[in-house]
Parts: sequence; C-alpha cells; structure tokens
Amino acid sequence: MIRIKISPGDFLLYLLFLKIRLMAMKYLPLMHNFDGKTCLIVGGGKVALRRAKNVLAAGGIVDVIAPTCLPELCDLVHQHKSGRQQGQQHQGKLQQKQYQAEDIDPRYALVIAATNDRQINQAIAQQCKTKNILVNVVDDSSLCDVTFPAIVDRNPILVAISSGSASPQFSKLLRDRINTFIPNGYGKLAELFGRYRKRVKSSIPKPQDRTVFWNKVVHGYIAESALSGNLEQAESQLKNAIENHRKLEQCGEVYLIGAGPGDPDLLTLRALRLLQQSEVIIYDRLVAPEILSRLEQGKDLIYVGKQRANHSVPQQQINELLIRYANQGKRVARLKGGDPFIFGRGGEEIENLAAHNIPFQVIPGITAANGCASYAGIPLTHRDHAQSVRFVTGQLQNGTVSLNWAELIAPDQTLVFYMGLQGLPIICKNLIKHGAATNTPAALIEKGTTLHQKVHISTLGELAALLESIEIHAPTLTIVGSVVNLHASLRWFNKSV
Ligand code: SAH
Repeated sequence: MIRIKISPGDFLLYLLFLKIRLMAMKYLPLMHNFDGKTCLIVGGGKVALRRAKNVLAAGGIVDVIAPTCLPELCDLVHQHKSGRQQGQQHQGKLQQKQYQAEDIDPRYALVIAATNDRQINQAIAQQCKTKNILVNVVDDSSLCDVTFPAIVDRNPILVAISSGSASPQFSKLLRDRINTFIPNGYGKLAELFGRYRKRVKSSIPKPQDRTVFWNKVVHGYIAESALSGNLEQAESQLKNAIENHRKLEQCGEVYLIGAGPGDPDLLTLRALRLLQQSEVIIYDRLVAPEILSRLEQGKDLIYVGKQRANHSVPQQQINELLIRYANQGKRVARLKGGDPFIFGRGGEEIENLAAHNIPFQVIPGITAANGCASYAGIPLTHRDHAQSVRFVTGQLQNGTVSLNWAELIAPDQTLVFYMGLQGLPIICKNLIKHGAATNTPAALIEKGTTLHQKVHISTLGELAALLESIEIHAPTLTIVGSVVNLHASLRWFNKSV
C-alpha cells in the first residue's frame, strides 16, 4: 500500500486552491437541448437575425416581436418549420408591434432582448426574472441569465467559446483559430463512429481494449480516409478493423510529409495535424528546426539528414527504419524539406512501404522553387516573360553536370536549379555554350524563405565570378530567365504607416 503524507498546511492550501478553481468559472457551460422549444426574440435587426438562425439551427421555434423587421428575418420566421421530432413541426409567429410586458409568456423556454433601447431590454429582463424564464440581453451581460458563445460547428461536434463577457472579440478570434485547425470532415467522422459504438462495445468487451481500439481508429488511416472525403472507404475499413481489432493494434502507418522550404509557417494544416499525432518523426537536414520545436514532447525525433559527401544515413537504412517503426504499430512521420515528390526520393520510400503492405499517405509541401520565388518577388511564369518553368537538378559526376542542355535553352522559359554551388559555374558555361545570352538574368537565393534569406542578382555570364567574391550559405537555389528582372519591383513591399 502507498501512503501519502499531507500536512494540515498543505491540506488547507489544497482546499484554497480548489476554492479558487471553483470560483474561477464565471458561467456553467451546458449544452441545451432546444429541439421543439420556443424562443421569443424582441427586436428585428441584424443581431436578432443572427440569434434566430442559431435557435432555428438547434431545432427551436422562433417568435419575433418588433415594430420593423429585416426581410430576411421575416422570411425565416415564416418559412422555417422547427422541431425535429415527428408530429412536432411548428412555425414561429411574427408580430409587428411594440413590446409589452404581457408578451413574456411562460411557454417561452428562452427570451432574447435584442432591441436597441436599453430601457426596453431592461424591462424584458425584469419580466423574465419574475416569470422565471431564461433571458439573454444583447450587449448587456449583467442582465443575462445565459449568453451566446462563439461556436465552431462540425455537427454533431460543437465547440462553444466564452470569454465570460470580457471580450466577445477575443472569443471570435479564438473561434477563427480553432476553425482553421478542425478539419471540415470531423462532424461526419464523429457521426460514423457514433453509428458503430454499440458494435465496437459488443465485439471488444474490455474497456481498456476499446480505448486502444478507438485511439488507433481516431488517429489512424480510418479517420484519415473519412477526413479526405472517402466515407465509404472509412466505413468499410472500420468494419474490417472491428473484426480484426487485434491486427489493428499492431498496424502502424507512415505519413510522408513535405515540410516546406524553411519558413515554418509554410507548413500545411494537414501536415501539422499529422505531425502532432505521430509518435516517431524521421526528418531531414532541410527541415526547419522551428517546426520540430513546435511539436509537443514525447515523440521520438530521428535525424537522418544527408549532406553532400557525408551520407549520414543511407537511403536503404531510412527505408528500413520506416518499416521497423511501422511494424511496431507506430504512427511514423517521414518529414522532408520542401515537397517530398520533388527531388526528394519520396517515390522510392513509398514504393518500399507499399511492398511491405504498410498504410501510408503523402502530404505535399511547398517546394523550394515556389517558396524562394514568392519570397524573392520573382514570379516563375509571367505573360510577358515566361510561359513555362522547369525544375532541374544537376547530377554531379566527377565534378561534371550531365544535363540535356539543348532542351534547357527554350525561349520564354524559366529554369530553376535545385543544387548546391559546386556545379553552378559549369551550368552557366554550358547554357551559354548552347546558345543562352550571357546577359540572361540569374538569381541565386540562399536560405530561401527563412529570416536569413539573401537574394543575389546576376547574369549567366557573371554568376561564377560572383560566387568567388562572396560568402554564400547552403541551401541555395538558382532561378534563370527574364522573370528575374521583376525582382527589383516585386520585392516584398512593407510600407510603415
Ligand atoms: N524536396 C525539396 C528539394 C530537395 S533537393 C523541395 O521540394 O524543395 C535540395 C535542394 O533544394 C537544395 O540543394 C537547394 O537547391 C534546394 N533548397 C531547398 N530548400 C531551400 C531553401 N530554403 N533555399 C534555397 N534552396 C533550397
């Protein structure tokens, strides 16, 4: 038996802490089943309209009293039949008149005072209190029994946010943030899981086994199928998983994720969500450290970055790592700089996963060419300059670059070279040799999209000499073509007011 000793002082402190915590909640959050209940709204303006929409969406009936009423609100009241239960379809009433105390009828489950007259609002609140009816007064929390939270609606999932009337603006800000992070498909997902809860309960009787099962389902490929819009597939996978739940527990998966070129804000929402739910993250040299530091603790972070002439972990070993962790039932993120399918060997890695029957998905990232071009103010295509763009990587063999030079010298084409500095002089020389003008503009972008980004503007004829004269840090990318001339006018324009 374990005994924990608590001194009387500690105990008092604990009670005090508990009291502070209990007192800290200004409102009691409840979800009100309003189906088939009636709400009176006094007022016919924009706020009344917003509130009416909320009440109707929850299956309520809306009566409105107002001398004048927005046409949209009139239509809503007249056309909407509320109450979801059979035989309970009711329509609200609109009375175009001044409010009177007798209007507050005990059949109302809620009254909303939404007039722009403070005295009338106060009188409504007073009447409601004497008749014991819940009241909400717009813009006056001191008179309210209940307030309307900001909501994120992914029916049947509902997130309600209240700032305790301190700052509705803040609640809205938070709502917008949460809105961006909850994928649209969450409601459908919850609905699907809800339908199978009973079946899961009877097939997996032990509660702790069920927790493991749902954890796998919610964080794994089944949820992902539903979130990417494929509900049928998700449902058949779920049925399968219920029948083979022991197998599901041992089944890991791999997310091949593009981390973007450097600025951590360029990570996609899906990438961030999958990173957060991964248990192991295997990452490359080009992945921004800020991305890794944004992830919570408790994940295995494995660096497999490759550097030229210093292959820290060979590709074969990376492939084996992915298989090993996935076979341990882990969710593994394979995080690569830029986009995994652009000079990222992503294709080889997933071929290997497919061969081992391991579920995977690929999450695109912003490739270096796009990121660097945007941040440097160099559009890769432009009606007056370039109708096509080529992403090229130069394979260095014994200090030489082997490329199809003739193909690269097409008119009105932008070239983007993904590679270090070593091969650049050879590239410039060969492009000129095969017909490119020596004054063709070229931009060398180092550490693109990061806080340390530098853009060096030159020409094919002069780039090699420039490389000799300045210190440049990897990674670097080179853009060649007349679009480079636009850099001078399209650089980020930050005007302070
Ligand atoms: N999959 C990556 C590219 C990997 S190849 C992508 O889609 O971006 C590696 C090369 O990408 C580097 O040698 C460099 O040329 C380029 N690169 C990647 N990140 C860069 C950055 N932030 N700035 C400049 N070049 C970058």
